Amino acid sequence: MAKKIVIVGAGVAGVNAATKLVDNGFPGKDITIIDMGNDPYNRKPEEVMTGFLGAGGWSDGKLTYHTAIGGQLSKYVGETKAMKLMDEVITNFKRFHPKPEEVQCSNPEAEPDFIKPYFGLRLFPVWHVGTDYLHEIGKNWYDYLVSKGVQFVWNEKVFKIDFESRLVYFTYKNQLGEGAIEYDELIFGVGKSGIDFAQELQDEYHLETEPKSVQIGVRFEAPQHHFQKLIDISYDFKLYRKFEDKGVSLRSFCTNNNAAYVAVEKTYGDNSYNGHAKKDEAYRNNMTNFGILMEINGINNPFEWSRDVVSKCQIDGKGLYYSPSRTVSQTSEGAEVEAVQITWTRMIEVLSAFKGYFQYIEDFIEDMKKVFPTLGDDWGIYIPEVKYLSPEPLVYDSDLALVEYPNVHFVGDALSARGITVSGAQGILAVEKFVKPMDHWADEWDNHSGDMVHFR
Ligand SMILES: Cc1cc2nc3c(=O)[nH]c(=O)nc-3n(C[C@H](O)[C@H](O)[C@H](O)COP(=O)(O)OP(=O)(O)OC[C@H]3O[C@@H](n4cnc5c(N)ncnc54)[C@H](O)[C@@H]3O)c2cc1C
Repeated sequence: MAKKIVIVGAGVAGVNAATKLVDNGFPGKDITIIDMGNDPYNRKPEEVMTGFLGAGGWSDGKLTYHTAIGGQLSKYVGETKAMKLMDEVITNFKRFHPKPEEVQCSNPEAEPDFIKPYFGLRLFPVWHVGTDYLHEIGKNWYDYLVSKGVQFVWNEKVFKIDFESRLVYFTYKNQLGEGAIEYDELIFGVGKSGIDFAQELQDEYHLETEPKSVQIGVRFEAPQHHFQKLIDISYDFKLYRKFEDKGVSLRSFCTNNNAAYVAVEKTYGDNSYNGHAKKDEAYRNNMTNFGILMEINGINNPFEWSRDVVSKCQIDGKGLYYSPSRTVSQTSEGAEVEAVQITWTRMIEVLSAFKGYFQYIEDFIEDMKKVFPTLGDDWGIYIPEVKYLSPEPLVYDSDLALVEYPNVHFVGDALSARGITVSGAQGILAVEKFVKPMDHWADEWDNHSGDMVHFR
């Protein structure tokens, strides 16, 4: 009898895991994916982080291809295998793309002299899909999984998982009461939108975890022409600098160009910012946005520290916008990006919320003005941008299963990923061992009579 695999989170990791399974003949009907968001046909643009392909479905679709970018992968499987897994993820995105030839690769080979001595530039290849195509990819990909028999449960938030009795609990909205589904193997891929739930499980089961650094900063936005010289070399340029004696490093992060929009991320009820870009020329606004992110080491309880900074950078439930000359931009849907514009006087409160670390961001911007001489005051920042890195639970390298519960696999941003290719690769890695030749699963398909969903 085939194993019953339950995937919590239809994000990048969960969807790649399911695809690996059905591509190799695993019966789709023995895979159930539960997500608190919508399927790709019903997912609305404002649902930035939930639904089919998760945050990846409304991202910029930059598929980074380097083991030093996007979180941990090679530490589990080594360099060669990590690259192979990332290849599989990129192939999946191209495979369901309506026009795969439009996926462009940017591959800078050398640091340009003009950024020196102020910044270094990370050199790595990246494929750019674009937000609008992601929606089409999502639909094609979903249709494929449905055609293979994969069961989807939409709009249901998992609120409890019993690792001992192997039950996943969710509020069963269409009926009275709660639902529970039994699993043999659990893939836990709840991403950033489920980070609080991941934390609850870690606490409840006293999972051994490794603390992470603070990753916080702002989303910077400016007209693209100021940065064009660098964009021509690297679409997703990562400028970086390090202050090793202070335990602080900074980098520009997730650059969006051409038709680039700032997006609000809601986590723990607070607003923070990210960005995405569309491919369709109709959306072109000739803007560039990117995060200026600090990685700060040596802070006790990095999660609480970041939460505190984020909560202090909110007014009336919105994040903040500061610019010496500009006003808040529009989203790709034509609404104003949700943010309260503040003056320099109120920036004092931001400086205080960042507990002395904001100076590094100010210096970064000042030095960008030297490297990109037309920039001047023609920019704005959305405050804050934050990456809540979940403490990483201890997992087996081979399949990312919890050491304490070997049939529970943590994947994607819920483990140690920070981007699409690594999240997808972790999803594939977690299920590889369940994949067997086609003829084996053909027999299983006929014989399987297990009742997969039990409502209690
Ligand atoms: C605006 C934006 C732009 C980005 N751009 C890029 C980019 O260009 N390149 C890149 O590499 N990365 C980018 N990222 C990051 C990338 O999207 C994530 O790293 C990646 O999606 C993580 O994959 P995941 O499967 O771990 O989680 P996700 O893709 O976030 O999926 C998690 C899923 O779990 C579901 N879920 C959460 N909690 C529960 C629960 N309790 N019950 C049921 N379902 C639940 C959610 O609804 C969601 O669908 C971007 C992120 C954002 C927000």
